[in-house]
This record gives sequence, structure tokens and C-alpha cells, in this order.
Amino acid sequence: MIAEAQELGTSIVMIAGGEPLTRPEVLEITADFPGIIFPLFTNGVLLTPEMIGRLRRQKNVVPVLSLEGHQLETDERRGQGVYAHLLSTMAALRESNCFFGTSLTVTKHNVEMITSPEFISDLIATGCKIFFFVDYVPVQEGTEELILTDEQRRAEIERLAALRAEFPGLFVAFPGDEEMYGGCLAAGRGFVHVSPEGRLEPCPFSPFSDISLKDVSLREALQSGFLKKIRENSHSLTETRGGCALWARREWVSSLLQ
Ligand code: SF4
Repeated sequence: MIAEAQELGTSIVMIAGGEPLTRPEVLEITADFPGIIFPLFTNGVLLTPEMIGRLRRQKNVVPVLSLEGHQLETDERRGQGVYAHLLSTMAALRESNCFFGTSLTVTKHNVEMITSPEFISDLIATGCKIFFFVDYVPVQEGTEELILTDEQRRAEIERLAALRAEFPGLFVAFPGDEEMYGGCLAAGRGFVHVSPEGRLEPCPFSPFSDISLKDVSLREALQSGFLKKIRENSHSLTETRGGCALWARREWVSSLLQ
């Protein structure tokens, strides 16, 4: 699938989980594609010194360690001791001269703290060079209260612009500035998501699909009727209440699958 994606012009393949390092062979697979960058989203627990040694040579894999904030917030969601472990892993990556980053889930409750210059400056000091801010997108009924408010979202965009100006790092917001890109980037317009079962879905936040890579090639799957419809409507898929446009219109999305 990665070979096909490369043929189609893909230059970035993000590997997320679950925990991708429960399949350590991922490092062997990615070694065959030096022209593709693989951000690998991990909780860091399985990142051994041997793997770090390998990453030092295999520069196309970029470990992205998941944090929720400081120790309290991270351990609360990811388990006791995970934060301390992450800091020691970051130190080891830095010593090995590996390019690495962090991914932060942005909610109504932590947005100010994790976009503050103090928080970022501490992470820059650990050697972190790329920051993914993943806005909380509800995929479960009843969790909508974690979504950023309109005001917080606007402030987040401004705070990220200030961070870009101040710090030597890359700051990526996801879904982020969709309005700037003219609407939803999913379904192959900007990116596409492959589920663990091999189904081709518009986006990690939109688990709907009418086609599986077990049955057809990636090139064919991208032409599925469902994905095409989403792409054709991307201009009208701009959710302004902080969540996902497809989630907000999930009834319409489900009707496309009928
Ligand atoms: S609007 Fe939803 S489906 Fe589209 S890119 Fe954003 S999060 Fe993904």
C-alpha cells in the first residue's frame, strides 16, 4: 500500500494507533521508503534504546510522542509514570540527535496551557522540534463538551502564529485551519485514512467507508463513490463550531453510504 501511495505522489504517511510500536517491524517497512516521511505517533513506552539507535540512522521516521500537558494531565489519561518515561525517552532521542516531536490533544480545558510559551519553551529545551496540536473531535456522543469554543479556536490560531514566530519548531494544527484550506481536506483532497481493518475512510475522525484495500488497490479505492461525494462537497464542509464537519453532518454522511 505504501508503494502505491508513493507512486501516487504521497510524501507523508502518518502512522498512528493504538500503539504502532507493538508492531516493531514498522521500522523495517519504512526503511524501504526513504523518500517518504513517516511521523510515528507513539506513547514512547516501547521505544527501546535499540530502536532509538536505529532511528538515528533512519531519518525518515519521526517519533511523535503523545502528551496531554504536564505530568498530571498525561499520567491521568495515559497511566502512572508515563510522563516521566516520556521525558527520559526525549532525553535519549536528543542525545542520539534524532528529530522528534510531540502530539497534544487540544480540549476546551487544556488549550491555554499547552499553547503557552512557557510550556512550549520547556519542550523545546528537551529537544522537541515538531508539535502537532490535535483539536479534540468528538467521535462519541456525549463528549462534545470538550470541543473548543469558537473564541478558543480563534485564539488558538493566533497563539500558534505567535509560537511559530518565537520558537525554532514546526507547529501543525489538525484539523486546524480548515477554513484557510477551503474546507474539509479529507477523502483524498488533502489526505485519506486507512483503518486498522484496511478500510479507506475520509479521515481518522470520520470512520465511514464503502471500500476496503483488501479488495481493491489504493488508486481504485480513492475513486469510491462515497469518497468522491465527500470531495465534491468539501467547499461546503466547513464546521465553525470547532468540531468535525463530517461529524456535524453524520446523517448526510450515512445517507451517502446507503
Ligand atoms: S472536517 Fe472532519 S473529516 Fe474533514 S478533515 Fe476535518 S476532522 Fe477530518
